This record gives sequence, C-alpha cells and structure tokens, in this order.
Amino acid sequence: MTTANIGVVGLAVMGSNLARNLASREGNTVAVYNRTYARTEQLLSEHDDLGFVGAETIDDFVASLSTPRTAIIMVQAGAGTDAVIGQLADRFEPGDIVVDGGNANFLDTIRRERELRERGLNFVGTGISGGEEGALKGPSIMPGGSAEAWETLGPILRSIAAVAPDGEPCVTHVGTDGAGHFVKMVHNGIEYADMQLIAEAYDLLRRVGGRSTPELVEVFRSWNEGDLQSYLIEITAEVLSQTDAATGEPLVDVILDEAGSKGTGVWTVQNALGLGIPVSGIGEAVFARAVSSKPEQRAAVRASARERPSSPQVPETFADDVRAALYASKVVAYAQGFDLIVAGAKEYGWDIDLGAIAKIWRAGCIIRARFLDRIVDAYAGEPGLATLLADPYFADAVAAGQEAWRRVVATAATAGVPAPGFSSALAYYDSLASERLPASLIQGQRDFFGAHTYKRVDREGVFHTLWSDDR
Ligand code: NAP
Repeated sequence: MTTANIGVVGLAVMGSNLARNLASREGNTVAVYNRTYARTEQLLSEHDDLGFVGAETIDDFVASLSTPRTAIIMVQAGAGTDAVIGQLADRFEPGDIVVDGGNANFLDTIRRERELRERGLNFVGTGISGGEEGALKGPSIMPGGSAEAWETLGPILRSIAAVAPDGEPCVTHVGTDGAGHFVKMVHNGIEYADMQLIAEAYDLLRRVGGRSTPELVEVFRSWNEGDLQSYLIEITAEVLSQTDAATGEPLVDVILDEAGSKGTGVWTVQNALGLGIPVSGIGEAVFARAVSSKPEQRAAVRASARERPSSPQVPETFADDVRAALYASKVVAYAQGFDLIVAGAKEYGWDIDLGAIAKIWRAGCIIRARFLDRIVDAYAGEPGLATLLADPYFADAVAAGQEAWRRVVATAATAGVPAPGFSSALAYYDSLASERLPASLIQGQRDFFGAHTYKRVDREGVFHTLWSDDR
C-alpha cells in the first residue's frame, strides 16, 4: 500500500481544499478520508493528478499513513470533531499526531490535548484562517500542541501556509495545547472589530457625507493605497461595486441589514470578560451585529422615536477625518486584542511571541493588512510593550489623528448615526490617557454600601471610612 506522510479527515469545502493544497506541495503524499465516501470519490475523480491515497474506511486511512502518523481533522466543530478524534486515537500509536484544524473552542482543545497526551498521543489544535480560498492557496496557520509534534508538523504546515511579503510563511508554533485556537479566536474577534469600524466609516460617509455608492467605491479603493491597505478594505470596495442583477441597484442596498455570526466573536468577548481585559472594540462589534438582528425592536423604536436629528453640514475633508478615525479606532481594537493574548498566555501558561503572531497574520488570513508590519516592528522594538498604544509609532499616529477622530465621533452623535466602534475606541483611549478616572468615586460608593475598602493616593494600605453615623 502507498504510504502517505499526511492525512486529511473531513472533505467538505475546507478539508478538500486543504488536502489539495497539501498534495500540490513537493514531497507530500496525502491520504484522504470522509465519513460519507461519496465526498472522497468526488475529490479523487476531480483531482486524480494530485496522487491522493483515498480511503473508504478509517482503518484503511490509518493503515495508509507512515509513522509518526499525522492526520488533520477538518470536520464540523464540536461533536463531529470529538467523534473523529476518538476514532483516530483508538487506532493511532504513541508518538502519532492528531491535528484539529477546525474552529474549536480552545478550552475543548486543552481538554482533548490532555486526554490524548495521557494515551501517549500528540494532539495539536490549530487555527486556520482564510476561508476556503486560503485553505487552497495558503492560509494563515496558528498551531498549538507540543514541541515534539511541531517538529514533524512544522515543515508540512510551512509548505502550505500563505507567504508574507517578506517571504516568510504565515505559520508559527503559537504555544502548547490550546494556544493556537485561542489566538485564532482573538484573530476572529479582531476581524469583527475591523469589519464594524469599516461599516461605520461607510455609514457616516453615506449618511452624513452624502457620498453615493460609486463614490464610496473610490474612497475605499484610495484608502487601500495607503496605511489602511488591507484585505477587508479591498473587499469592501468590491462589495460596494457590485450591482444587483434584478434591480440594477447597488447590491449592498438590497442586502438585508441584519448581520449574522458564527459565534467566535462572542467567545472572544466571553473570555475577555473572564480575564478582565476590556476588548470594547470587539464587544461593540458583537453587540452591533446583535442590535442589527432585532427587527422588532428596531421597528418599534423607529415608530416611537420623536424627532430625529438632521444631518449637519460637513466639509469635503470629512472623508479624511473618517479615515483618521478608522485608523485610530483600528489601533485600539488591535491593542485590545493583543492585550487579550497576553492575558490568555498568562492564565493558561503559554509562551506567546506577540511579534510572531503579527507576522503570521500578514498574509492568508482575513485581517491581513499592511498595518501588521507596524505591529511586528512595535514588538521587535519592545517585546514587553504595555499596550500597542504606547508604541512610539502608534502613539504618534493616534495623536496625529485624534482631532479628526473627535470631530467624527461628535458629528456622528449630532447626526444620530450610530458609531459605537469609533466612539468606544475613543473613550478607551481617553480613559487610558486620563490623569485621573472617576474610579475613585466608584471605590467610595463601594466602600459606602459594602465596606469594600479603598486605597489612597498618598499612603500605603487599605482603608475603610465610617461614612455616616446613622448607617
Ligand atoms: P463543515 O460543514 O463544518 O463540516 C462538514 C464535514 O464534517 C463533512 O466532511 C462531514 O462528513 C464531517 N462530519 C460532521 N460530523 C461528523 C461526524 N460525526 N463524524 C465524521 N465526520 C463528520 O465543513 P467545513 O465548512 O469544510 O469546515 C470544516 C472545519 O473547518 C469546521 O470546524 C469549520 O468551523 C472550520 N473552518 C471553516 C472555515 C470556512 O470558511 N468554512 C474557515 C476556517 C475553519 P460527511 O460528509 O460525512 O457529512
């Protein structure tokens, strides 16, 4: 029997594309297996030039792998993944490697890694970003798992990963057990924030700036030439340029304005809340999608709202202001995302190189952007940076844009156009930059009603005040 150095289980859109990517690389022979054999047959017949080793049963699949056996699972997250892990674990031998490339919750990955380690098996949970095109042409890959597994898996993943502009493959060993899936979760959270900020820029330029959709296509195309250059800005111009065949209207105008989600943004915010990290940019993005998906409430408030503000006159330069607000808010969203990675690493015992994470997001993934080079530079200059906002480059960039940022947030509020991403990012920045916060009053209130105590600015120790005689 032909032996394969790597196998893929699960041949739906992601798995079949990843298998094709693997098989097209020099030196790889790829075994493929899917629960329903028809999918395997389809892949084999459509790509008989790629030398796949097709297996009809899981036993045949395992038998076709050379040791250490290495199999990447690309099946439905949750129960499907657990089922396949169980099937492989029952057949694999110590030292073999089970890889989960699905969108798993990192806590599941930590559990699965522990269970398989106890049986002498390597388990690697890996984030794979870039959708189906990325899987085929080169994704950004975020693997966790043991150093031992990385030795075998590293060269294989490097061969299929996206390549950054400087020639580096977009994959790194993120850390042990669930580190890869944790970082992938934060990646998706940042993706939510980035999309929300772009959507707010679009809405303000349209509703306040009075720009037509064709004009907006040009605005986003021009932004994509500068420091906002990114995949998301690029596809925004593409989406806006699409005309609906049925009506002749811009397609964006006939798409129902209720945003869906698959839940990784929610995971990001839930975990951030648990770790005490204010990821307000991601949170606002998750909430904004939720608000959009409440048609009854929206209709009820629209019907009962009294007077809506009229849009203020804005100068031609409004688009430049919005661009500056978008850039500054984006810095905040990334700063918060990286803070969450730092907190996760501390909580779960991972040694994560933040600069390496910024590097592997530069190509292949949804948040790929020129901007990430600056983050790479920031962590190269100061690996222990307190926040990205304190990096000299970003501090200068945000300071340079802050007047415009404030004008945009004020204009949005005056015009009655929601800009939760822009305004909460500004509030976060102002909170960090304030000499003193009203948290002192909150501490006073907490001590008043609950004797929670407080600290003082002028003396060490913990204090409690007898606030009132009649309490
Ligand atoms: P999917 O629709 O999530 O899952 C379908 C695949 O799972 C099929 O191969 C199916 O086999 C298999 N499956 C489901 N339950 C199973 C079970 N109990 N035992 C064995 N196999 C089972 O596929 P996908 O969209 O290609 O995504 C695969 C994974 O990649 C998911 O975890 C997804 O979250 C992740 N991911 C997706 C994207 C994306 O853009 N789509 C991006 C990144 C990551 P049958 O054919 O037999 O039903």
